[in-house]
Amino acid sequence: MKTDEKAAQDKKVRLENRFSANRGHISVNQVLISYGENSDRNVAVEETSVEIKPQEFVCLLGPSGCGKSTLLNAIAGFVQPTQGRVSIDDILVDGPGPDRGMVFQQYSLLPWKTIFENIALGPRLSNDIEASKTAENFLDMVGLAKYRNHYPAELSGGMQQRVGIARALATYPSVLLMDEPFGALDAQTRLVMQESLLNVWSKFGTTVVFVTHDVDEAVFLADRVLIMSASPGRVVADLRNPLPRPRSQNMSTRDDFNELKQQCLGIIREESMRTFELQNE
Ligand code: ADP
Ligand code: MG
Repeated sequence: MKTDEKAAQDKKVRLENRFSANRGHISVNQVLISYGENSDRNVAVEETSVEIKPQEFVCLLGPSGCGKSTLLNAIAGFVQPTQGRVSIDDILVDGPGPDRGMVFQQYSLLPWKTIFENIALGPRLSNDIEASKTAENFLDMVGLAKYRNHYPAELSGGMQQRVGIARALATYPSVLLMDEPFGALDAQTRLVMQESLLNVWSKFGTTVVFVTHDVDEAVFLADRVLIMSASPGRVVADLRNPLPRPRSQNMSTRDDFNELKQQCLGIIREESMRTFELQNE
């Protein structure tokens, strides 16, 4: 098949996959990512393989600079792996695509458009014939219907990030990629946002990869916690979370919450010690 035809075919399959229940299987296969060349070469992510099942909520936990964003950006298609491959539903990721929604720490809304227009933009661009209705539904889902005609600057940080989530979901992506999305919020708002995210996700069931350096946040949200070692990062632990759903913040006093939290902290501590020893050899 010619390359153009193959690309068109892949795109069609991708779009169809977005609406099937078993969508959003992420495969990271022997991926290594380095920046720069020769003496400037810096390995950001060591060879790593991860399989994420459709509709799984995975948190990627690790210290600052360990390569979390780099790995997430490889899944998003913003960064090309130096070795190995990333695929979603068996289709190679070779650039960004509408099957992946992205939420960053910065709210990145268009300041000159209303909340409603910010959310409706994606559906319109992807030829959703009911774009306005889709936008209304998602505004409602994140509890901001009243604010539809406001501009981003008129909303608090937490509200803006709810718009960010609604916007990312409004194109019905099979995968939602979140890079420390609540990192800029105060502690109280952050807890409310975590519950609100799980609430939306439970109705929607998209595969989520959520990057954080906050152990409590990872344990509260995830089905699975993947821990990355200090730079250059690789996945050193893959822990299943036994905490039942639906989750609420009062679960943080439960024994199983604390056991998983202590386990994560232990692995992170061990990894930091190892890096420290290596640096001082
Ligand atoms: P994290 O998100 O875990 O804080 P990053 O993925 O941002 O980590 O960074 C991992 C490593 O890759 C760091 O050493 C960082 O300096 C380097 N890095 C990240 N982005 C780039 C880039 N665009 N060019 C060069 N080096 C980069
Ligand atoms: Mg980062």
